Amino acid sequence: MEALKSYLAGQWVSGEGKGQTLYDPSTEEPLATTSTEGLNFGAARDYGAAKGGPALRAMTFAQRGEMLLALSRAIHSKRDELIEVGMKNAGNTRSDAKFDVDGASGTLAAYGELGKSLGDATFFTDGEPISLGRSSRVSGQHVLVPRRGVAVHVNAFNFPAWGLAEKAACAWLAGMPVISKPATATAMLTVRMSEALVASGALPEGALQMIAGPSGDLIDRLGPQDVLAFTGAGSTGAMLRGKKNVIDNAVRVNVEADSLNAAILGADVERGSDTWQLFIADVVRDVTQKAGQKCTAIRRVFVPAAMVEAVCEDLVERLGGAVVGSPFAEGVTVGPLATAAQLKDVRAGLDRFVQAGAKVLLGGSGAVQGKGAPEGKGYFVAPTLLLASNAHEIKIVHEHEVFGPSTTVLPYASNDECVALVARAGGGLVSTVYTDDRAVSAEVALGIAAYHGRVCVANSRMGSGWLGPGTVLPQLLHGGPGRAGGGEELGGVRGMQLYLQRCALQGFGPLIEGAVAGAKRL
Ligand code: NAP
Repeated sequence: MEALKSYLAGQWVSGEGKGQTLYDPSTEEPLATTSTEGLNFGAARDYGAAKGGPALRAMTFAQRGEMLLALSRAIHSKRDELIEVGMKNAGNTRSDAKFDVDGASGTLAAYGELGKSLGDATFFTDGEPISLGRSSRVSGQHVLVPRRGVAVHVNAFNFPAWGLAEKAACAWLAGMPVISKPATATAMLTVRMSEALVASGALPEGALQMIAGPSGDLIDRLGPQDVLAFTGAGSTGAMLRGKKNVIDNAVRVNVEADSLNAAILGADVERGSDTWQLFIADVVRDVTQKAGQKCTAIRRVFVPAAMVEAVCEDLVERLGGAVVGSPFAEGVTVGPLATAAQLKDVRAGLDRFVQAGAKVLLGGSGAVQGKGAPEGKGYFVAPTLLLASNAHEIKIVHEHEVFGPSTTVLPYASNDECVALVARAGGGLVSTVYTDDRAVSAEVALGIAAYHGRVCVANSRMGSGWLGPGTVLPQLLHGGPGRAGGGEELGGVRGMQLYLQRCALQGFGPLIEGAVAGAKRL
């Protein structure tokens, strides 16, 4: 069986001992092992800062952009192989694996183009020079310069390709070296992708290191110039953020965590209309795509009380047509969950919802024989639709994220009540209002904006540009307040700011002007 390797200090290395086993979640067969035990993470941190940092900072934004475009091409050239690995190790259907792999190359390409558009500068000025005092001789100018440490990226199991790329694209374009740590269970795809990135020759020495497994004492070794960007469960994020050295050194931390994203059907939308169909299609996509293991997936479906029955009928009909099974079997539209632990968590979560009073309209926590999977094997869950008729009483719907192919319908009586119910989740990544009515859009979309990193306003007139709320775009912010972790990623240049230090230069105007002459105005 293959023993996966990490890429540290310019070498492909393995740790000691047996390590952990990675499985095919459709068959439960072991695929590979990985160990990071005994690897020197302190040396990796220092190597990244010493080698990768200066090399990246010496490049202009345009050169970094060209580098990102070359990396995007490197991934694209291995697309078929990477998709196959995603199907095997993460249990993704072919289309789900494409979503991850193409998301990775697409995000690198988008940041590559952004880099080219930023030109020959190596850092930013932020705002105009500010005249201080009576004469124009004393002035101030804010600048944003790359931090001098390493960016450590800890990613969740659900996007082993995109997770590396979306974080690294921002760090590299800003001028910081990266140490990327995928979740161990699905690290095989990240390893293959890192091999392609390294082999491309586009990366300067030290710009990328990758840990195929647990990261040992790396986080405990981070210092004041380092950045930690984490995606995963809120509890893990809180633990990492609370580490002594992270607090003592004020290590800059970004957390992307759980989210109980909402889809809201406006009271103006009639059954069967094109906007209604769009709403139903988006909910169905988010329950089934990646078997519901998307941080942006719709977990709560808010529907005007009078339309609940009709929405439930349509969703049951559409979700009932999903075929659960091995991604390699003909006609399968929903793959397994990624791990045995996820299966246990999702089943337990669904049971908790039911115990709290939610009604199962489709699916549930029972065992499922996946199409094309060996008898009794695989981490499968049926697409599940729940109804929480009392949206206020069934608190767990607003508190617990079931990270699987499941969503809950909740009735609302007025726009104000809907906004209040959506807000009960305590902060989320993305929610969507489906409406053709300007008043609904203004009241609900702006009403929930303070609780989200992204709010979508959708109707049938958008045409093919609409990819659904679940697709995270490099141009728009990804993150959210409160439960969602309080982080901000992507959003064009906004995503680079995590890796840049804002500094106010103050003093003799002509000297400051000279120092920032080559900078790009933000
Ligand atoms: P997780 O258990 O928190 O793991 C996330 C990452 O943290 C993994 O790489 C894991 O590594 C690592 N980790 C765990 N303990 C660590 C420690 N002591 N030191 C350093 N790293 C540590 O979460 P998950 O189960 O992979 O992901 C599911 C959750 O992620 C869901 O709740 C979902 O909502 C959230 N998520 C959020 C977003 C977003 O953008 N907001 C995106 C995707 C997923 P190992 O695998 O080696 O343990």
